[in-house]
Amino acid sequence: MIILRVALDVPLPKLFDYRSEDATRADVGYRVLVPFGKRRLVGVIWDVATKSKVTDSRLRSVEKILRDVAPLPREWLALVEFCSGYYHGPLGEVIAAALPPRLRGAKSVPLPPRDYVLTPIGRDALAATPSRHRRLRALLERLARGRASGSELDAQATGSRNLLKRGIEAGWIAPIEPERSEPRFIHAHELTSEQEHAIGILRSRLEKFRVSLLFGVTGSGKTEIYLHLIADVLARNKQVLILVPEIALTPALEAAFRDRFSGACIVTQTSAMAELERVRGWVLAHSGRADIVLGTRLAVFTPLARLGLVVVDEEQDASFKQREGVRYSARDLAITRAHIAGASVVLCSATPSLESFHHATSGKYELVPLTRRAIDRAALPAIHLIDTRVHPPQEGIVRPLLEALAARLARGEQSLVFLNRRGYAPALACPACGWVKGCRRCSASMVVHLAVQWLRCHHCGLAEGIPRACPECGNPDLQAFGRGTQRVEITLAEKFPHARILRVDSDAVRTRTGLEDLLERAIHADILVGTQILAKGHHFERLTLAGVLNADSGLFSSDYRASERAFAQLQQVAGRAGRANLPGEVLIQTRYPEHPLYQALVRNDYAGFAKSVLAERREAGFPPFVFEAVLRAESRDSVRALRFLRSAIGRAPQRGASITVFDPAPMSLARLAGVERAQALLQSRSRPRLQAFLREWSDSLYRTPAQGVRWHLDVDPIEF
Ligand code: ADP
Ligand code: ZN
Ligand code: ZN
Repeated sequence: MIILRVALDVPLPKLFDYRSEDATRADVGYRVLVPFGKRRLVGVIWDVATKSKVTDSRLRSVEKILRDVAPLPREWLALVEFCSGYYHGPLGEVIAAALPPRLRGAKSVPLPPRDYVLTPIGRDALAATPSRHRRLRALLERLARGRASGSELDAQATGSRNLLKRGIEAGWIAPIEPERSEPRFIHAHELTSEQEHAIGILRSRLEKFRVSLLFGVTGSGKTEIYLHLIADVLARNKQVLILVPEIALTPALEAAFRDRFSGACIVTQTSAMAELERVRGWVLAHSGRADIVLGTRLAVFTPLARLGLVVVDEEQDASFKQREGVRYSARDLAITRAHIAGASVVLCSATPSLESFHHATSGKYELVPLTRRAIDRAALPAIHLIDTRVHPPQEGIVRPLLEALAARLARGEQSLVFLNRRGYAPALACPACGWVKGCRRCSASMVVHLAVQWLRCHHCGLAEGIPRACPECGNPDLQAFGRGTQRVEITLAEKFPHARILRVDSDAVRTRTGLEDLLERAIHADILVGTQILAKGHHFERLTLAGVLNADSGLFSSDYRASERAFAQLQQVAGRAGRANLPGEVLIQTRYPEHPLYQALVRNDYAGFAKSVLAERREAGFPPFVFEAVLRAESRDSVRALRFLRSAIGRAPQRGASITVFDPAPMSLARLAGVERAQALLQSRSRPRLQAFLREWSDSLYRTPAQGVRWHLDVDPIEF
């Protein structure tokens, strides 16, 4: 008897056995349709065995092995197995998350376009075909002159698909792989000597697994460097995977890639794509036809049999960490993936994560620094700190910034006013009794959106009308506290009535094309008011001033990663100013100009900042000097969530002094969309010990009924 051991998308850490008539070992990696309870599920064949622990009478048969897509390769299976083991998620769940949605079901998958040729029998058939079969003759005659693509044949005559199909069945016509065009790299710039040097180092490491950190100031031409490396890798007939943080960045980047690599097969993979578009690209990658795969975190799971290089751009970005389901870090998996494939990894950043920076300075990774901007005339922007105790803001904006904006307007240059808060005001409150309008479903206040006259919760999306009076004391004079982009936009429009002001935040952008459209219009604005959407990766030639309004909010967070993120964000904003011919200036409003973070920023000294924060982390026992995981519980009832965690800790396996388990506590955003969230933090100086402990613990957790609580483990968490 043949038993298939199948990974299914169910929350149980095991494989499921099914009987099959005709399967062989060669079927490992194929998708398979099986009955599961009253449902039918698609899973992946993980193993083929001859015996099962399930009794014969209970063993069910597979419905169908789905062989339309080639089996998932061994390296891919190794990657998901690692992911399941390290993040402690059931294999079947990891696989479901790693496959494009289309492949999680049994629907047919569009195969990549093929070319068609005439077979010798087809030639004979053509000779024998009477001229009254006009359409068939036309088709065969066309193919007698040489191969043709399906789309060309379609264009030649409607209905040719049917004829084609019949021709293939008759053995007259054969589908073949289209000819691959050789990708050609188009040089755009004379490289700077620093770039040449960096490429030299990176190139020498391409042949095997090695992690390099390309650490260069914004505008130092990091993209240009990895484009050159990619050209090398393509010339060796290998494939390249590039991970980027933002979905919004992929269309622009894809266009840039098409410009620079003519003839290359370039595929994007993001969650924003339509199901068919996504699976088409995936199949191209899987079949080995794609040369370059460009995508967000989920692209790390694209099967690539000839992988030669992985690039992770803006590697510090928090979006590489998956925040639901299996909570993987795509950056870390990219490294594992390259390790499995024997490929090289380049992490890029102006402000690397402290983890990567630590590995690069301690010799585990290769550190490749770039200290100058690539364009001679583009000096780094001058950063000035404006002390709000000396210059009290008027309606949120200090006088020196208003003057600097006026000067740009007079010179016809562009400015950016940055604040990381959308909406009109972050809170609606009653000045008489102190009541603040909170979200019913989250432990957060609701944000005032004046344009639509609404209150909106930025965590769960709940929207409500603005109340007429305070529900506590009846005071009709409620006030909007604090400032968001909408309010700043209104203030600026009053101060500069003739300026063209454009707000760019996720309220202004609702769709992907919306963003492209908005960025197009942004080129012509005098003043841009924006959130981090604007901070990343866009070039504005005339932009010479960046003003930052609420930078201090990143300084005193309870999250130890907040300062690292604040630095990265400020550096990105600063990087928008003065990219081309015009020198840039950055004004930061702050109450704490002497803060070491700002001092390092002014000196443009991320390395110095990173070293001092790392020293603090070493002292205090935080990552990367310890390894962390959390057990999280979610329930309608906070008492129940905490009780679950306490009892889970009570039943935890034996642990030595090497593992510290902290008392359970509510998360900093304790309630989200009506769900109470609590967690217990675990720390250890030994990753293997922590992993061994988690393995044993999660096994026992899976075996215990959770009673109205949903739980998960988050390894290397970034939310607390
Ligand atoms: P980074 O990714 O380091 O911020 P980019 O690669 O985006 O920098 O480069 C910044 C700008 O400099 C881009 O407009 C790019 O086309 C340009 N650039 C890069 N290298 C060179 C070069 N060697 N000569 C001239 N311009 C360059
Ligand atoms: Zn009140
Ligand atoms: Zn809410």
